[in-house]
Amino acid sequence: MIYRDFNGLKLSALGFGAMRLPCVDGNDATPDQDAVNEMVDYALESGVNYFDTAWGYHDGQSEIVLGRALARHPRDSYYLATKFPGYDLANMDKVEEIFEEQLRKTGAGHFDFYLIHNVCELNIDEYLNPAHGIMPYLLEQKRTGRIRHLGFSAHGAIPVMERFLEAYGEHMEFCQIQLNYMDWEFQDARGKVELLRRHGLPVWVMEPVRGGKLASLPEADAEKLRALRPDEKPVAWAFRFVQSVPEVVVTLSGMSDMEQMRENVATFAEDRPLTEVERAALDEVARDLTSQGTVPCTACHYCTSHCPQGLDIPHLLSLYNQLIVGGSGDFIARMGVGSLPEDKRPDACIGCGSCAAVCPQQIDIPGTLADFAARLA
Ligand code: SF4
Ligand code: SF4
Repeated sequence: MIYRDFNGLKLSALGFGAMRLPCVDGNDATPDQDAVNEMVDYALESGVNYFDTAWGYHDGQSEIVLGRALARHPRDSYYLATKFPGYDLANMDKVEEIFEEQLRKTGAGHFDFYLIHNVCELNIDEYLNPAHGIMPYLLEQKRTGRIRHLGFSAHGAIPVMERFLEAYGEHMEFCQIQLNYMDWEFQDARGKVELLRRHGLPVWVMEPVRGGKLASLPEADAEKLRALRPDEKPVAWAFRFVQSVPEVVVTLSGMSDMEQMRENVATFAEDRPLTEVERAALDEVARDLTSQGTVPCTACHYCTSHCPQGLDIPHLLSLYNQLIVGGSGDFIARMGVGSLPEDKRPDACIGCGSCAAVCPQQIDIPGTLADFAARLA
Protein backbone atom coordinates (compact mmCIF):
# COMPACT_ATOMS: atom_id res chain seq x y z
CA MET A 1 0.00 0.00 0.00
CA ILE A 2 1.19 3.48 -0.84
CA TYR A 3 1.10 5.84 2.16
CA ARG A 4 1.10 9.61 2.27
CA ASP A 5 2.22 11.81 5.15
CA PHE A 6 -0.28 14.16 6.72
CA ASN A 7 0.52 16.09 9.91
CA GLY A 8 2.62 13.25 11.28
CA LEU A 9 0.12 10.53 10.26
CA LYS A 10 0.69 7.89 7.61
CA LEU A 11 -2.53 7.70 5.63
CA SER A 12 -3.19 5.02 3.06
CA ALA A 13 -3.37 6.63 -0.36
CA LEU A 14 -6.50 4.55 -0.99
CA GLY A 15 -9.47 5.34 1.25
CA PHE A 16 -12.58 3.20 1.56
CA GLY A 17 -15.60 5.37 0.72
CA ALA A 18 -18.80 4.01 2.26
CA MET A 19 -21.33 5.53 -0.13
CA ARG A 20 -21.75 2.57 -2.48
CA LEU A 21 -21.72 -0.36 -0.09
CA PRO A 22 -23.12 -3.75 -1.06
CA CYS A 23 -26.82 -3.80 -0.19
CA VAL A 24 -29.42 -6.44 0.59
CA ASP A 25 -31.70 -7.02 -2.41
CA GLY A 26 -30.18 -3.96 -4.10
CA ASN A 27 -31.96 -1.66 -1.62
CA ASP A 28 -29.74 1.40 -1.07
CA ALA A 29 -31.10 1.84 2.48
CA THR A 30 -30.04 -1.61 3.66
CA PRO A 31 -26.27 -2.13 3.40
CA ASP A 32 -25.27 -5.75 3.87
CA GLN A 33 -23.48 -5.83 7.24
CA ASP A 34 -21.74 -9.17 6.68
CA ALA A 35 -20.45 -8.12 3.26
CA VAL A 36 -19.27 -4.77 4.66
CA ASN A 37 -17.50 -6.54 7.53
CA GLU A 38 -15.66 -8.71 5.03
CA MET A 39 -14.62 -5.69 2.95
CA VAL A 40 -13.46 -3.72 6.00
CA ASP A 41 -11.43 -6.68 7.27
CA TYR A 42 -9.77 -7.11 3.88
CA ALA A 43 -9.10 -3.37 3.60
CA LEU A 44 -7.38 -3.26 6.98
CA GLU A 45 -5.37 -6.43 6.27
CA SER A 46 -4.25 -4.83 3.00
CA GLY A 47 -3.06 -1.64 4.66
CA VAL A 48 -6.04 0.65 3.97
CA ASN A 49 -6.45 2.76 7.12
CA TYR A 50 -8.77 5.58 5.97
CA PHE A 51 -12.56 5.10 6.02
CA ASP A 52 -15.00 7.75 4.88
CA THR A 53 -18.72 7.90 5.56
CA ALA A 54 -21.36 10.64 5.79
CA TRP A 55 -24.67 11.41 7.44
CA GLY A 56 -26.66 10.93 4.25
CA TYR A 57 -25.00 7.88 2.70
CA HIS A 58 -27.30 4.89 2.32
CA ASP A 59 -30.22 6.78 3.79
CA GLY A 60 -28.32 7.28 7.05
CA GLN A 61 -27.28 3.65 7.40
CA SER A 62 -23.67 3.96 6.20
CA GLU A 63 -22.41 5.50 9.44
CA ILE A 64 -24.05 2.72 11.43
CA VAL A 65 -22.89 -0.21 9.30
CA LEU A 66 -19.36 1.10 8.84
CA GLY A 67 -19.14 1.91 12.54
CA ARG A 68 -20.13 -1.66 13.46
CA ALA A 69 -17.63 -3.14 11.01
CA LEU A 70 -14.78 -0.98 12.33
CA ALA A 71 -15.69 -1.51 15.99
CA ARG A 72 -14.45 -5.10 15.57
CA HIS A 73 -10.92 -3.70 15.24
CA PRO A 74 -8.67 -1.67 17.56
CA ARG A 75 -9.64 2.00 17.45
CA ASP A 76 -6.06 3.04 16.70
CA SER A 77 -5.85 0.79 13.61
CA TYR A 78 -7.95 3.08 11.41
CA TYR A 79 -8.92 6.67 10.73
CA LEU A 80 -12.61 7.46 10.43
CA ALA A 81 -14.07 10.45 8.59
CA THR A 82 -17.61 11.72 8.46
CA LYS A 83 -19.26 15.00 7.56
CA PHE A 84 -21.70 17.71 8.62
CA PRO A 85 -24.60 17.55 6.14
CA GLY A 86 -25.21 21.21 5.38
CA TYR A 87 -25.96 20.28 1.77
CA ASP A 88 -29.49 19.99 3.19
CA LEU A 89 -30.23 23.51 4.43
CA ALA A 90 -32.70 22.13 6.99
CA ASN A 91 -29.67 20.82 8.93
CA MET A 92 -27.88 24.15 9.32
CA ASP A 93 -29.19 24.79 12.85
CA LYS A 94 -28.61 21.21 13.99
CA VAL A 95 -24.85 20.90 14.17
CA GLU A 96 -24.76 19.77 17.80
CA GLU A 97 -27.70 17.37 17.47
CA ILE A 98 -26.26 15.81 14.32
CA PHE A 99 -22.68 15.57 15.60
CA GLU A 100 -23.79 13.83 18.80
CA GLU A 101 -25.96 11.46 16.78
CA GLN A 102 -23.04 10.67 14.45
CA LEU A 103 -20.87 9.74 17.43
CA ARG A 104 -23.69 7.51 18.69
CA LYS A 105 -24.31 5.92 15.27
CA THR A 106 -20.67 5.11 14.60
CA GLY A 107 -19.70 4.34 18.20
CA ALA A 108 -16.32 5.77 17.25
CA GLY A 109 -15.69 7.95 20.31
CA HIS A 110 -14.10 10.59 18.14
CA PHE A 111 -13.74 11.39 14.45
CA ASP A 112 -10.22 11.45 13.07
CA PHE A 113 -11.39 13.59 10.17
CA TYR A 114 -14.53 15.70 10.06
CA LEU A 115 -15.66 17.61 6.98
CA ILE A 116 -18.14 20.33 6.22
CA HIS A 117 -19.95 18.49 3.46
CA ASN A 118 -20.44 19.64 -0.09
CA VAL A 119 -19.80 23.38 -0.03
CA CYS A 120 -21.43 24.66 -3.20
CA GLU A 121 -23.45 27.48 -4.74
CA LEU A 122 -26.66 26.27 -3.11
CA ASN A 123 -25.44 26.44 0.48
CA ILE A 124 -22.44 28.78 0.69
CA ASP A 125 -24.49 31.70 2.06
CA GLU A 126 -25.84 29.56 4.87
CA TYR A 127 -22.51 27.88 5.59
CA LEU A 128 -21.08 31.37 6.02
CA ASN A 129 -24.01 32.59 8.13
CA PRO A 130 -22.66 32.87 11.70
CA ALA A 131 -26.19 32.54 13.11
CA HIS A 132 -26.00 28.77 12.66
CA GLY A 133 -22.96 28.52 14.93
CA ILE A 134 -21.44 25.70 12.92
CA MET A 135 -17.79 26.67 12.98
CA PRO A 136 -17.55 27.61 16.68
CA TYR A 137 -19.19 24.30 17.57
CA LEU A 138 -16.84 22.25 15.39
CA LEU A 139 -13.78 24.12 16.66
CA GLU A 140 -14.86 23.36 20.21
CA GLN A 141 -15.13 19.64 19.32
CA LYS A 142 -11.64 19.85 17.89
CA ARG A 143 -10.34 21.51 21.06
CA THR A 144 -11.75 18.68 23.18
CA GLY A 145 -10.39 15.96 20.85
CA ARG A 146 -13.71 14.70 19.51
CA ILE A 147 -12.57 15.95 16.10
CA ARG A 148 -8.89 15.46 15.31
CA HIS A 149 -8.69 17.10 11.87
CA LEU A 150 -11.17 19.49 10.31
CA GLY A 151 -11.71 20.01 6.59
CA PHE A 152 -14.36 20.47 3.95
CA SER A 153 -15.58 18.91 0.76
CA ALA A 154 -16.61 21.04 -2.18
CA HIS A 155 -18.60 20.53 -5.33
CA GLY A 156 -18.88 24.26 -5.90
CA ALA A 157 -16.97 26.24 -8.49
CA ILE A 158 -13.78 28.08 -7.64
CA PRO A 159 -15.43 31.38 -6.56
CA VAL A 160 -17.49 29.48 -3.98
CA MET A 161 -14.41 27.69 -2.67
CA GLU A 162 -12.62 31.05 -2.48
CA ARG A 163 -15.44 32.53 -0.38
CA PHE A 164 -15.35 29.57 1.96
CA LEU A 165 -11.56 29.68 2.28
CA GLU A 166 -11.60 33.41 2.91
CA ALA A 167 -13.99 32.91 5.82
CA TYR A 168 -12.76 29.64 7.30
CA GLY A 169 -9.50 28.75 5.55
CA GLU A 170 -7.43 29.32 8.71
CA HIS A 171 -9.32 26.48 10.42
CA MET A 172 -9.21 24.01 7.52
CA GLU A 173 -6.56 21.30 7.27
CA PHE A 174 -7.62 19.55 4.04
CA CYS A 175 -10.17 19.71 1.27
CA GLN A 176 -11.97 16.96 -0.63
CA ILE A 177 -12.81 17.64 -4.26
CA GLN A 178 -14.02 15.74 -7.28
CA LEU A 179 -10.87 15.00 -9.21
CA ASN A 180 -10.35 12.63 -12.10
CA TYR A 181 -8.85 12.93 -15.56
CA MET A 182 -12.22 13.72 -17.13
CA ASP A 183 -12.90 16.59 -14.72
CA TRP A 184 -9.34 17.98 -14.79
CA GLU A 185 -10.48 20.47 -17.41
CA PHE A 186 -14.25 19.77 -17.63
CA GLN A 187 -14.95 20.86 -14.03
CA ASP A 188 -11.65 22.74 -13.62
CA ALA A 189 -10.28 20.34 -11.03
CA ARG A 190 -6.87 21.64 -12.06
CA GLY A 191 -7.83 25.18 -10.97
CA LYS A 192 -9.21 23.87 -7.67
CA VAL A 193 -5.98 22.02 -6.91
CA GLU A 194 -4.03 25.22 -7.63
CA LEU A 195 -6.34 27.22 -5.36
CA LEU A 196 -5.87 24.71 -2.53
CA ARG A 197 -2.12 24.69 -3.05
CA ARG A 198 -2.09 28.48 -2.63
CA HIS A 199 -3.94 28.00 0.68
CA GLY A 200 -1.52 25.27 1.75
CA LEU A 201 -4.25 22.61 1.86
CA PRO A 202 -3.69 19.01 0.79
CA VAL A 203 -6.25 17.40 -1.48
CA TRP A 204 -8.52 14.47 -0.76
CA VAL A 205 -10.08 13.00 -3.90
CA MET A 206 -13.67 11.92 -4.40
CA GLU A 207 -15.12 10.43 -7.57
CA PRO A 208 -11.72 9.37 -8.99
CA VAL A 209 -13.58 7.06 -11.39
CA ARG A 210 -16.45 9.50 -11.82
CA GLY A 211 -19.18 7.31 -10.42
CA GLY A 212 -17.87 4.34 -12.44
CA LYS A 213 -17.89 6.13 -15.80
CA LEU A 214 -14.13 5.85 -16.20
CA ALA A 215 -14.20 2.14 -15.37
CA SER A 216 -15.94 1.17 -18.59
CA LEU A 217 -14.81 3.32 -21.48
CA PRO A 218 -16.04 3.23 -25.05
CA GLU A 219 -14.06 0.55 -26.85
CA ALA A 220 -12.05 2.99 -28.98
CA ASP A 221 -10.86 4.86 -25.87
CA ALA A 222 -10.15 1.64 -23.97
CA GLU A 223 -8.06 0.42 -26.90
CA LYS A 224 -5.94 3.62 -26.88
CA LEU A 225 -5.01 2.97 -23.27
CA ARG A 226 -4.54 -0.78 -23.71
CA ALA A 227 -1.99 -0.10 -26.42
CA LEU A 228 0.12 1.82 -23.89
CA ARG A 229 -0.35 -0.38 -20.80
CA PRO A 230 -1.81 -3.76 -21.72
CA ASP A 231 -1.82 -4.87 -18.06
CA GLU A 232 -3.92 -2.00 -16.64
CA LYS A 233 -7.69 -1.75 -16.84
CA PRO A 234 -9.44 1.61 -17.36
CA VAL A 235 -10.19 1.90 -13.64
CA ALA A 236 -6.47 1.58 -12.83
CA TRP A 237 -5.71 4.36 -15.34
CA ALA A 238 -8.13 6.60 -13.46
CA PHE A 239 -6.27 5.92 -10.21
CA ARG A 240 -2.84 6.35 -11.84
CA PHE A 241 -3.98 9.82 -12.89
CA VAL A 242 -4.83 10.94 -9.35
CA GLN A 243 -1.67 9.29 -8.00
CA SER A 244 0.23 11.59 -10.36
CA VAL A 245 -1.15 14.77 -8.77
CA PRO A 246 1.39 15.67 -6.05
CA GLU A 247 -1.11 17.55 -3.86
CA VAL A 248 -3.29 14.44 -3.42
CA VAL A 249 -3.06 12.62 -0.09
CA VAL A 250 -6.10 10.31 0.09
CA THR A 251 -8.14 9.01 -2.83
CA LEU A 252 -11.55 7.70 -1.87
CA SER A 253 -13.13 4.89 -3.78
CA GLY A 254 -16.75 3.91 -3.14
CA MET A 255 -16.21 0.20 -3.43
CA SER A 256 -19.24 -2.08 -3.77
CA ASP A 257 -17.79 -5.58 -3.67
CA MET A 258 -14.71 -7.61 -2.91
CA GLU A 259 -13.62 -7.75 -6.52
CA GLN A 260 -13.40 -3.95 -6.73
CA MET A 261 -11.66 -3.89 -3.37
CA ARG A 262 -9.01 -6.41 -4.47
CA GLU A 263 -8.42 -4.61 -7.77
CA ASN A 264 -8.08 -1.22 -6.09
CA VAL A 265 -5.77 -2.52 -3.38
CA ALA A 266 -3.58 -4.05 -6.11
CA THR A 267 -3.50 -0.73 -7.99
CA PHE A 268 -2.43 1.10 -4.84
CA ALA A 269 0.27 -1.44 -3.99
CA GLU A 270 2.77 0.63 -5.98
CA ASP A 271 3.14 3.98 -7.69
CA ARG A 272 3.35 3.71 -11.47
CA PRO A 273 3.59 7.34 -12.56
CA LEU A 274 2.20 8.28 -15.97
CA THR A 275 4.58 9.23 -18.74
CA GLU A 276 3.90 12.33 -20.82
CA VAL A 277 2.61 10.17 -23.65
CA GLU A 278 0.24 8.33 -21.30
CA ARG A 279 -0.96 11.59 -19.81
CA ALA A 280 -1.68 12.93 -23.30
CA ALA A 281 -3.66 9.79 -24.09
CA LEU A 282 -5.83 10.34 -21.01
CA ASP A 283 -6.43 13.95 -22.06
CA GLU A 284 -7.61 12.67 -25.40
CA VAL A 285 -9.96 10.15 -23.79
CA ALA A 286 -11.33 12.90 -21.54
CA ARG A 287 -12.06 15.10 -24.55
CA ASP A 288 -13.88 12.20 -26.21
CA LEU A 289 -15.98 11.55 -23.14
CA THR A 290 -16.99 15.13 -22.51
CA SER A 291 -17.94 15.91 -26.07
CA GLN A 292 -20.74 13.42 -26.24
CA GLY A 293 -23.59 15.44 -24.71
CA THR A 294 -23.94 13.28 -21.63
CA VAL A 295 -24.93 14.54 -18.17
CA PRO A 296 -22.28 14.43 -15.41
CA CYS A 297 -24.26 12.47 -12.79
CA THR A 298 -21.96 10.83 -10.21
CA ALA A 299 -24.74 8.71 -8.64
CA CYS A 300 -24.30 10.44 -5.28
CA HIS A 301 -28.06 9.96 -4.64
CA TYR A 302 -28.49 13.36 -2.96
CA CYS A 303 -31.49 14.00 -5.16
CA THR A 304 -33.48 10.82 -4.78
CA SER A 305 -35.05 11.47 -1.37
CA HIS A 306 -36.39 14.80 -2.72
CA CYS A 307 -38.38 13.26 -5.58
CA PRO A 308 -42.15 13.12 -4.89
CA GLN A 309 -42.47 10.55 -7.67
CA GLY A 310 -39.91 8.23 -6.10
CA LEU A 311 -37.86 8.12 -9.28
CA ASP A 312 -34.44 6.49 -9.27
CA ILE A 313 -32.90 9.59 -10.83
CA PRO A 314 -29.24 8.48 -11.09
CA HIS A 315 -30.34 5.24 -12.71
CA LEU A 316 -32.51 7.13 -15.22
CA LEU A 317 -29.67 9.56 -15.98
CA SER A 318 -27.28 6.68 -16.48
CA LEU A 319 -29.75 5.23 -18.99
CA TYR A 320 -30.07 8.65 -20.61
CA ASN A 321 -26.30 8.81 -21.03
CA GLN A 322 -26.37 5.40 -22.65
CA LEU A 323 -28.97 6.65 -25.10
CA ILE A 324 -26.96 9.78 -25.88
CA VAL A 325 -23.71 7.90 -26.42
CA GLY A 326 -25.60 5.67 -28.83
CA GLY A 327 -24.45 2.39 -30.31
CA SER A 328 -25.43 -0.47 -28.05
CA GLY A 329 -26.32 2.18 -25.50
CA ASP A 330 -29.56 2.86 -27.33
CA PHE A 331 -30.62 -0.74 -26.82
CA ILE A 332 -29.50 -0.75 -23.19
CA ALA A 333 -31.40 2.46 -22.45
CA ARG A 334 -34.64 1.25 -24.00
CA MET A 335 -34.35 -2.11 -22.29
CA GLY A 336 -33.58 -0.48 -18.96
CA VAL A 337 -36.53 1.88 -19.14
CA GLY A 338 -38.78 -0.93 -20.35
CA SER A 339 -37.91 -2.96 -17.27
CA LEU A 340 -39.19 -0.22 -14.95
CA PRO A 341 -42.80 0.14 -13.72
CA GLU A 342 -44.60 2.78 -15.78
CA ASP A 343 -44.73 5.22 -12.89
CA LYS A 344 -40.92 5.11 -12.52
CA ARG A 345 -39.99 5.99 -16.10
CA PRO A 346 -38.72 9.37 -17.34
CA ASP A 347 -42.20 10.55 -18.35
CA ALA A 348 -43.38 10.15 -14.73
CA CYS A 349 -41.33 13.26 -13.84
CA ILE A 350 -43.68 16.15 -13.04
CA GLY A 351 -40.94 18.78 -13.45
CA CYS A 352 -41.12 20.07 -9.88
CA GLY A 353 -37.34 20.72 -9.78
CA SER A 354 -36.82 19.58 -6.15
CA CYS A 355 -34.05 17.26 -7.29
CA ALA A 356 -32.13 19.86 -9.27
CA ALA A 357 -32.06 22.17 -6.24
CA VAL A 358 -29.81 19.71 -4.36
CA CYS A 359 -27.76 18.30 -7.21
CA PRO A 360 -24.05 19.07 -6.65
CA GLN A 361 -23.41 18.61 -10.36
CA GLN A 362 -26.10 21.21 -11.12
CA ILE A 363 -27.75 18.98 -13.66
CA ASP A 364 -31.02 20.16 -15.17
CA ILE A 365 -32.70 16.93 -14.11
CA PRO A 366 -36.32 17.73 -15.11
CA GLY A 367 -35.14 19.05 -18.47
CA THR A 368 -33.01 15.99 -19.04
CA LEU A 369 -35.81 13.61 -18.12
CA ALA A 370 -38.20 15.46 -20.42
CA ASP A 371 -35.65 15.14 -23.22
CA PHE A 372 -35.20 11.48 -22.36
CA ALA A 373 -38.95 10.84 -22.52
CA ALA A 374 -39.19 12.67 -25.84
CA ARG A 375 -36.30 10.71 -27.35
CA LEU A 376 -37.79 7.41 -26.20
CA ALA A 377 -41.16 8.35 -27.67
S1 SF4 B 1 -38.25 17.26 -11.24
FE1 SF4 B 1 -38.93 15.14 -11.72
S2 SF4 B 1 -37.21 13.86 -11.05
FE2 SF4 B 1 -36.95 15.86 -10.08
S3 SF4 B 1 -37.89 15.67 -8.05
FE3 SF4 B 1 -39.47 16.50 -9.47
S4 SF4 B 1 -40.56 14.69 -10.24
FE4 SF4 B 1 -38.64 13.94 -9.33
S1 SF4 C 1 -28.59 13.83 -10.52
FE1 SF4 C 1 -27.18 15.04 -9.26
S2 SF4 C 1 -27.87 14.70 -7.14
FE2 SF4 C 1 -28.82 13.12 -8.39
S3 SF4 C 1 -27.45 11.36 -8.24
FE3 SF4 C 1 -26.84 12.51 -10.09
S4 SF4 C 1 -25.23 13.91 -9.41
FE4 SF4 C 1 -26.27 13.17 -7.55
